Amino acid sequence: SGWEKRVRASAKPGTNSGFSVLVTGAAGFVGSQVSLALKRRGDGVVGLDNYNAYYSVGLKRARKGLLERSGVFIVEGDLNDVVLLRKLFDSVAFTHIMHLAAQAGVRYAMLNPKSYISSNVGGFVSLLEVAKEADPQPIIVWASSSSVYGLNSKVPFSEKDRTDQPASLYAATKKAGEGIAHVYNHIHGLSITGLRFFTVYGPWGRPDMAYYFFTKDILKGKEIKIFEGESHGTVARDFTYIDDVVKGCLAAVDTAEKSTGSGGRKRGAAQYRIYNLGNTSPVPVGKLVSILEKLLKVKAKKKLLPLPRNGDVPFTHANISLSQKELGYKPTTDLETGLKKFVKWYMGYHGGKKKSVAL
Ligand code: NAD
Repeated sequence: SGWEKRVRASAKPGTNSGFSVLVTGAAGFVGSQVSLALKRRGDGVVGLDNYNAYYSVGLKRARKGLLERSGVFIVEGDLNDVVLLRKLFDSVAFTHIMHLAAQAGVRYAMLNPKSYISSNVGGFVSLLEVAKEADPQPIIVWASSSSVYGLNSKVPFSEKDRTDQPASLYAATKKAGEGIAHVYNHIHGLSITGLRFFTVYGPWGRPDMAYYFFTKDILKGKEIKIFEGESHGTVARDFTYIDDVVKGCLAAVDTAEKSTGSGGRKRGAAQYRIYNLGNTSPVPVGKLVSILEKLLKVKAKKKLLPLPRNGDVPFTHANISLSQKELGYKPTTDLETGLKKFVKWYMGYHGGKKKSVAL
């Protein structure tokens, strides 16, 4: 059929050594950038996304346009649609799955808890069920989250630290995902690498994240709420620039490929891994705002409030020695440099006007 043809053409690597990668969440922020980077280096890429309305569907469609212009086809569908997933794997022998689809956001989990279970737990299991039956079995790299460290107060966070105190249902589903991944590695021999991303930001980013809506509100002259930790001191995030995260994702694919054995997919060689992908330099939220004020040349109207129990943790800070050692991961973009690129993109995308962004 026409659909199958488009899927096959999109999956076809541009070079002999290229992979055929299924990228879930390809219309999302990280998924779209990872898809473009894979395509650019010669891999074949097929996207999957359900275009959920958690934030601007217009922005997701714009990312889709970007991918299509680069020759990447995004299949519109849900992770929970096992019939569709089987159809995809019947059409293409995917060598890798880059699983970046999820119900994201920590605060929204208080409003719609079941959507997190459905996509992040149920959807992940559907994908793994189909992957385990595929021949060859694809190597899987997926996005966990720094949120699994929860209220852990030992900093910086290293992969061996405790993850038994999630602060949000989002974090709890990512933690569940790590357990589920381990089971599919253990029983079914799937090679699975989980990447704990730390507050990813940059061009084409997510309107539900602070750096994005602060930019929008500062430009509109609207008051912004800055949550300061009451008992924990300053609220800070280990902001990590999108290009650094994308490099880490590709390195994870290549590292797993090397240890699992190209093509043959040596059973028993399959690996289960977890890595932090952070920036190792947490920045207080107040500092984030002052950088934005400087870049936007507008003073923010600030309201300081104590950090409520809304799912946010007081701080995040990655120890990246393991990902540095095993993946060669090395972030190079500081927050001001990254935000400059974000602001430039924001002005272009939103027409430079103080137009409101649909969240
Ligand atoms: P995003 O919301 O922009 O992208 C996720 C995409 O997945 C969306 O386009 C959404 O429509 C799609 N999706 C959701 N549920 C789906 C389903 N059931 N079936 C098919 N598609 C579905 O988020 P992002 O920032 O690009 O995050 C990518 C991954 O990284 C997610 O797993 C997220 O939890 C994780 N993560 C992100 C950050 C960050 O700071 N951006 C931090 C830690 C972890």
